Amino acid sequence: MRFYYEKSNWCNDSYYFLCKRKLWLFAHDINMEQESEAVFIGKLIDESTYKRENKHILIDDIICIDYINNGIVCEIKKSKKQKQMAISQIKYYLYVLQQHGLMHVKGRLAIPKEHISEDVELSEQDIGQIEENLQAINEILNLLVPPSIDKKAACKSCAYYEFCYI
Ligand code: SF4
Repeated sequence: MRFYYEKSNWCNDSYYFLCKRKLWLFAHDINMEQESEAVFIGKLIDESTYKRENKHILIDDIICIDYINNGIVCEIKKSKKQKQMAISQIKYYLYVLQQHGLMHVKGRLAIPKEHISEDVELSEQDIGQIEENLQAINEILNLLVPPSIDKKAACKSCAYYEFCYI
């Protein structure tokens, strides 16, 4: 299974759920995220919270952990709208750490603006799901052309909106 995760960072995994076309575009270096206001706000919150922690721990060039506190992998988000995706993100980080032999690391999701702090653990079922997703992601990344536009409400706030529609 190491083969799959080496090729897939968390962006790939999250984009897989959001939009398969977005996943393909991003993975092929067509990157427009810097223009997204949502991404800018997220960075601002990240830079202004938990200032004393040692932040942004890069592992294998595929995941970037917000910070580690007492051996717990912590991820900061700006609102609970992203809660389920953030929990999946932390589980993916825990999975990557397991591939390095760190079997019992736990995670925590922090949403400072809403005073939320929630523990996250990786189950056997999560591992099976992650490996299934990684396999599906690899299949999409190997397509010669991007998947067609998948029209949905999220398109309006997507960084690729202009690329897809204009
Ligand atoms: S604009 Fe819509 S179809 Fe295009 S990449 Fe974004 S979410 Fe996918």
